[in-house]
Amino acid sequence: MSIDREIRNFALENAVRFNGRANVGAVIGKIIGAHPELKKDMKSLSQKVSEAINKVNSLPLKKQKEELEKNAPELLIKDKKAKQKELPELKDAVMGKVVTRLPPEPSKYNHIGHALSFLINYLYAKKYKGKCLLKFEDTNPEKCTKEYAEAMEDDIMNYLGIKPDKIVYISDDMGHMYQKAEEMIIKGKAYVCFCKREKMQDLRHKGKACKCRNNTVMKNNEFWHNMINKKYKDGECTLRLKGDMKSNNHAMRDPVLFRISYALHFRHKNKYCAWPLYDFENAVEDCNYKVTHVLRSIEFGKMREELQNFIKNAIGCKPQIVKEYGRYNIRGAVTQGRVIRKLIEEGKVSGWDDPSLVTLKALKRRGIVKETYYKLVEEVGLSPAGSNIDWTIISAINRSILDKKAERFFFVENPVKIKIQGAPKQRISINLHPEDTARGSREFVTHEDFFISSEDLDGFEESKLNRLMDCMNFVKKDKFIFDSLEYNKFKKHGHKIVQWVIDEHVKVKVRMPDNTYKVGIGEKALHKLDEGAIVQFTRFGFCKLDQKHKDELEFWFTHK
Ligand SMILES: [Zn+2]
Repeated sequence: MSIDREIRNFALENAVRFNGRANVGAVIGKIIGAHPELKKDMKSLSQKVSEAINKVNSLPLKKQKEELEKNAPELLIKDKKAKQKELPELKDAVMGKVVTRLPPEPSKYNHIGHALSFLINYLYAKKYKGKCLLKFEDTNPEKCTKEYAEAMEDDIMNYLGIKPDKIVYISDDMGHMYQKAEEMIIKGKAYVCFCKREKMQDLRHKGKACKCRNNTVMKNNEFWHNMINKKYKDGECTLRLKGDMKSNNHAMRDPVLFRISYALHFRHKNKYCAWPLYDFENAVEDCNYKVTHVLRSIEFGKMREELQNFIKNAIGCKPQIVKEYGRYNIRGAVTQGRVIRKLIEEGKVSGWDDPSLVTLKALKRRGIVKETYYKLVEEVGLSPAGSNIDWTIISAINRSILDKKAERFFFVENPVKIKIQGAPKQRISINLHPEDTARGSREFVTHEDFFISSEDLDGFEESKLNRLMDCMNFVKKDKFIFDSLEYNKFKKHGHKIVQWVIDEHVKVKVRMPDNTYKVGIGEKALHKLDEGAIVQFTRFGFCKLDQKHKDELEFWFTHK
């Protein structure tokens, strides 16, 4: 980015922060912070900054914001971050005693919303030097699979870098859950119901009890033992809570706690046939593992909370402290597992890691780095109002991280060969990273032959000077003609600057988020990259090397 552009961005940032009026001293401070070498010529710097500020201050605040959002959204983020650095304190949190949990159901792939929820729970455990549990809620044998569980573990531990203190599969605790169910039956808080599903739903809706509710504790206990000992068929009966059939909260109208399913479980095969439903296992297991704080999205709802607290009370356990935060909406993205599964079945997306999705698998493959999620949590935090997370925010944060580390290369889309007459044969070397010269450089021997993009071919004006980036200046008449080498000459009179590739090159294709491909060639040095490397193709965008095919490199587009 040019210094003028940077000054303009900082001026906009400062103006937006101070109600439309940027301050010269503050902007100079920022610029010098980023480019200490400019201290040498303070006079010209303050003049440039004053000019930029005059222009920026003459714009209405709305325009300033729009421009900043467009050109440097990362500066908007920093601004917010300054106000909200630490996670707010939790009620009754004692240092060293906090226990939180990540509760995924391994029946789908996680998306970015899950990642934020996991991180919030994890970061709170860390904040209080407590413990964080990874608890797989795998009691739906029809839906939960080993594949999903393994993918989640990989996402959580390897991609997000979360290190849980303990990993549990709650299907391993079936004995404990059966025991708690029996306790409830004996206390008269649960009963076995043989009604058909439709009838049960109808009576629940009307607030009426079925006749099973009147069975004795002894009968219920007998039925329950039959139930867990495989004496009944699939769906023949359920264990229900003896709640309140007249409650305005429908969740309290004797919901099902256990059902029968003979589907094979991915860990326990056919060992069990009576499976707990979500609210029961969640309530029992949070108590079992002495979870102290539950941080969850507001969409969980008060109705469910009342039900879970009722169950906890029935088994003699103190409810956890719940902290709710607003729902994260990923604007414009499909996030529901059910919907994605359907898209995959219909062949509309290629899989759970399709580049158009915001699953963690897809984002990882595209080049969204771990640090972005941690920043995003700082950013959206525990806002009770909820957050619309937009791709521009995700990519702005990710870009600010990649910008410091990604190596730069040239990629030429739809290449055409040109000859620049009179160009000298020369050896040139271009830094892998513009600021970090210690990274080394790419070496080229160039002469008259180059490839440039066919899109660039149209934009040359005959009277003006053009430049092959970091290489040489030329003019285009009816032919391409060498002019000079120095950038300074182009800087004064230059028109258009383009990236280029020479005869020694590699074939490159880039898979875009909409599943189209950009096809072209890249410089030869790309060959030495390992799969998984994230680079910036100059003037094109950040890309992650997905696969090295025999004669072609396939990248996935990260973002601009
Ligand atoms: Zn019944």
